[in-house]
Amino acid sequence: MINSEQLLSKIKSYNKFSNIGPLNKAYNFALEAHKNQKRVSGIPYIAHPIAVANILAELKLDSATIITGLLHDTLEDTKATYDIVLNEFGKEVADLVDGVTKISALEEKIADNSQAENFRKLILATSKDIRVLFVKLADRLHNMRTIDAFQSTLKKKRIAKETMEIYAPLADRMGMNTIRDELEDLSFSVLNNEARNLIVERLKFIKNNRLDNFNVVSSELAVLLKENGVEAIIIGREKTPFSIWRKIQNKKISLEHLTDIIGFRVIVNSINECYKTVGVLHSKYSAIPFKFKDYVSTPKINKYQSIHTAIIGPKKQRIEVQIRTHEMNDFAERGIASHWKYKISEKLSELSLKQYDWLRDLVEIMETGNSPEHYYEFTKLNVPGKCFLFYS
Ligand code: MN
Repeated sequence: MINSEQLLSKIKSYNKFSNIGPLNKAYNFALEAHKNQKRVSGIPYIAHPIAVANILAELKLDSATIITGLLHDTLEDTKATYDIVLNEFGKEVADLVDGVTKISALEEKIADNSQAENFRKLILATSKDIRVLFVKLADRLHNMRTIDAFQSTLKKKRIAKETMEIYAPLADRMGMNTIRDELEDLSFSVLNNEARNLIVERLKFIKNNRLDNFNVVSSELAVLLKENGVEAIIIGREKTPFSIWRKIQNKKISLEHLTDIIGFRVIVNSINECYKTVGVLHSKYSAIPFKFKDYVSTPKINKYQSIHTAIIGPKKQRIEVQIRTHEMNDFAERGIASHWKYKISEKLSELSLKQYDWLRDLVEIMETGNSPEHYYEFTKLNVPGKCFLFYS
């Protein structure tokens, strides 16, 4: 468990305007409020709000959001009230904590209603301040990371299904891809552990048979780009078992034919260099048809930007490549959390606030029933005889 000094120094490392006094106070307030409570696993309850605050600090969010992470379960589970939090921490924090508590109350009702309707309610109830959603996502992420503590399979499946249907899509719409991927994969391990284990085994097999493949491919790409005057950082990221599962389902390829398990990311300094990189790669290697997508000139609905392509690359290996600038990469990982910059203060600029409008757009999209492309694919996830991710 991270202690208060570690948490504070993490926050200070990206936010020189952080409110150390109130942060410390919130840490101690949560410690006192939860002092006699335990998690299902038996460990002291306080480990949970601290873990949530830590996830929020990793997203580099502002002091009020992290304080809310520390306090998020106090209204529901302890003697603390809205007025007490208001007195101790002010209206901004009290309203945020209240917002998170309201979503938790909504969750209670979710099991009985149709999912789309609940999703709408959830978004509408919280779209006043997006920071409520950050805290709720961090809360759900930590609860999913520790879901094994529950004995009841039924309960675990209910929580995982709700995560897959509500929170992962929410993270997706907020551009928070790292959290989305983890939520999906944790849910997948509860909902269809058998399939996940098969994939994990296959991944191990492939890895054992092509040691340091990533290094070979990435250094060849790096040399090629350098020769062509492009300064790039190349990152390899292993795909999650769930993303591989989705691909197998969609493309109807078998697990045995699965070869590309690492996605390559080429991070460059400018948009011009993004296009130059595509040119260099496509000149040297064959591009695989229908794989080229330009989300730089036409961003995804959640504002994600990157150029995607797939090539028969070094060693005749088929690889997928995402090309983006540093700024686009930051957005791809942290989504709208990346709008907090801490250059002048820890409050959002008016320009950034205007970008909140897409959250309203999201509500509209949900209401008209158009599914984002990423989630359209979930409907194909049903495995006959196994658990169903979607109930119609
Ligand atoms: Mn919680």
